Amino acid sequence: MNPVSSEVSGHREAFRTCPLCEATCGLKLTIEEGEVTRVEGDPDDVFSHGFLCPKGAVLHHLDSDPDRLRLPQVREGDTWRDASWEEAFARIEEGLMPLIQKYGRNAVAMYLGNPNVHNLSSTIYLRPLIKTLRTQNLFSASTVDQMPKHVSSGWMFGHPRLIPVPDIDRTDYLLMLGANPWVSNGSLCTAPDMPGRLKAIRKRGGKIVVVDPRKTRSAREADEHLWIQPGMDALFLLGIASTLFEEGLVNTGDLREHCTGLVDVQDWVKGFRPEQVASHCHMEAGTIRRIARELTEAPTSVVYGRIGTCTTEFGSLSSWLIDVINVLTGHLDRPGGAMFPMSAHSRYRENKKPGGRGFRTGRWHSRVGGHPEVMGELPVAALAEEIETPGEGQVRALLTIAGNPVLSTPNGHRLEKALGTLDFMVCVDPYRNETTRYADVILPPPSPLQRSHYDLAFYDLSIRNVANYSEPIFPLQEGCLEESAILLHLIRMFAGQDASVPLSFVDDFIVKQWIQSEISAEGSPISGREADDILAALGDQHGPERILDFLLRVGPYGDGFEPDKEGLSLSLLREQPHGIDLGALEPRIPEVLATSSGTIELAPPGVIPDMDKLRQQIQQEPTSGLVLIGRRHLRSNNSWMHNLEHLVRGKGRCHLLIHPDDAAPISVETGQSVMIQSRVGALQVTVEVTDDIMPGVVCLPHGWGHNQPNTSMHIAASHPGVNTNILTDEAVMDASSGTSVLNGIPVEISAV
Ligand code: SF4
Repeated sequence: MNPVSSEVSGHREAFRTCPLCEATCGLKLTIEEGEVTRVEGDPDDVFSHGFLCPKGAVLHHLDSDPDRLRLPQVREGDTWRDASWEEAFARIEEGLMPLIQKYGRNAVAMYLGNPNVHNLSSTIYLRPLIKTLRTQNLFSASTVDQMPKHVSSGWMFGHPRLIPVPDIDRTDYLLMLGANPWVSNGSLCTAPDMPGRLKAIRKRGGKIVVVDPRKTRSAREADEHLWIQPGMDALFLLGIASTLFEEGLVNTGDLREHCTGLVDVQDWVKGFRPEQVASHCHMEAGTIRRIARELTEAPTSVVYGRIGTCTTEFGSLSSWLIDVINVLTGHLDRPGGAMFPMSAHSRYRENKKPGGRGFRTGRWHSRVGGHPEVMGELPVAALAEEIETPGEGQVRALLTIAGNPVLSTPNGHRLEKALGTLDFMVCVDPYRNETTRYADVILPPPSPLQRSHYDLAFYDLSIRNVANYSEPIFPLQEGCLEESAILLHLIRMFAGQDASVPLSFVDDFIVKQWIQSEISAEGSPISGREADDILAALGDQHGPERILDFLLRVGPYGDGFEPDKEGLSLSLLREQPHGIDLGALEPRIPEVLATSSGTIELAPPGVIPDMDKLRQQIQQEPTSGLVLIGRRHLRSNNSWMHNLEHLVRGKGRCHLLIHPDDAAPISVETGQSVMIQSRVGALQVTVEVTDDIMPGVVCLPHGWGHNQPNTSMHIAASHPGVNTNILTDEAVMDASSGTSVLNGIPVEISAV
């Protein structure tokens, strides 16, 4: 019997990994007469054991959504019409290539949205697409999310993707800042059934402390919740680090021989004693000291921080401090602490000496604002000014892939106006939304059920080493094009090749590059082998599957293309629809380190300017006035998935949480409207008066505002909500990573 699905008189079951968020839950789909009639958690999934959330349960509604685009759309004035793929690609070539010829490659910018990291084709083909377009104007959702974490990992461990994850299944003490995994299901920490795993910490006698300006669901379920002034996480963490040194609690254990810069860190944090920082954090100094002691007293402990710590002015500093504290307590790279996964596709080299090229930023700067490049990207907050500002290098065209930056990036109104002035815009997207409505051509990818899946991005952030491949549930619908083919068309065009070059030739070229680079890598299992032999061993596969198979086979659990060796391959994964568990995380230092020194570089110079800024800040009185923060909802996923009735029905979610002490002076009560105003914009919103939010802080969810004309998302339009990014300020960012400040935005509120 086919292990992936069994069919009995029009009824079958199929299994796949949910591609909607980082949790990678296994789903069991019941299909009757060619339609999915039920989605449940797969009880046999090796990682999620039957867990799913409300989003996964309606995955099939994305497939059947009548508003989802099936055919390319081309603009005719203010209207749209279906077009053939040939016509759409011809129109793109006519629109983009003359601009590149006349103004150069930087005239075309690219914006990549978050769903790309949940998509096998994107994770494989975006890299060659970026390489062939060769624009310095590359933007993505990373600079409204996790870029600070990449920067701090680059600084300390030498590679921006070496992000240690909290080993929540084995920890005794979890200190969590700016994260709400009960609702988000985990972020930069792939762990299906977060609620169950968090409950298990307490059940085995462990402790969870949540630090957040809002009493979130995760805070309610924790042992202790500490309020903190938004944006002041770095000061709180500095207070902890300073206590560890002052009270003689630093114990790096045998990590010490792999660390450099410990003395510098001790020197830097001296001026941030809890007594000096507490009032700025809105905390007691004694509490900060107690938390520092508890982190060292617990048999194992881990500090974990997410979006609330990243999207502030000191995002990179906070991210760095989180890992510094994990080192100081001796819990980095130790079970129950913060650990490095070893995914099935990672480039593990046996007996590799620690060290590498290290991490650099600022290889180029943005033209208008002078922001340094980070991981090849510029801050998305700078996109509007790059379009608006005339001169050499001005952005005149935009390619977006799976993104809606009008709703998800700062000062959406300014960006929207800028999009209207572009000479040409192309979007790869399943919907005509608030951003893609400005496009000249929209290329729709197939639905998630019509494509295969493997989480190349998230198994590198997983709390267990796991591998799971999903076959498409349905064949490609007639007239649709595989996402890999859409991207290969664009790659071929930017490479200057015409349609006489078959896409298979472009695909072969890409896979040969992968093979060649692996063959020349020291310590690779195929080092010195013939590229043609490896290509032949991959058989007649094509597209993302061929590259995935290659990565698995040269990976740490693979057969290394040795005929007599057993090991992981795509064909083996195809036989295991519930996935393969490759075991708990194991210590990887020093082999994993890629810094030029081969050590954990604890004292990167990049943190010094922000520490100086904070040193000055604590000499002054704490700031007062209202600030705005964001929030997530279990049934929402950033700016998309709002066109599914099951996820958006019921009470509206875009209400402003406000503390009774802040509501009283303007005499507003729950259900009434206020005008909220920031430096860049204003909007009207209803309030919910609650003591779940700390005084001086108000809170709105992001990703809404579906009330724009000329979109084609009818359900979203009937539940529009408000766009909080009208209020976020594109001028304020974490300077090291270019990440926007989305938490702690100064606002004023008045009754309407
Ligand atoms: S938690 Fe994430 S991966 Fe799991 S079902 Fe929900 S959306 Fe899908």
